[in-house]
Amino acid sequence: MISWRPQSQIVMPNPTGTTSPPAARSLHEICEAAWRGPCGYCSGQPGEPCAYSGTGPDGYHVGRFAAALKAGLISGDDLIAVVREAMFFTLSTVIYDAPDGAR
Ligand SMILES: [Zn+2]
Repeated sequence: MISWRPQSQIVMPNPTGTTSPPAARSLHEICEAAWRGPCGYCSGQPGEPCAYSGTGPDGYHVGRFAAALKAGLISGDDLIAVVREAMFFTLSTVIYDAPDGAR
């Protein structure tokens, strides 16, 4: 017997094999927390971003988030949420803040 299911009830498999729960904090909140510590990659000091665009949001190296994790400023889930923004990254990859709280 063939049963019919509406399109909205079809569950697509997740190609990564993992679930993607929403981040505990927004990217902006995580950037603000990491901003309170120094960067682990460049000479960025607490309270200053790693990269300024002048007209857009400030940027922070992935190395700063790693240092913030070590310092207890952000959680492991926060770090995962940040690097998920980049997909491919090194410690020198710059993550730009989302000041409006947008992800
Ligand atoms: Zn930096």
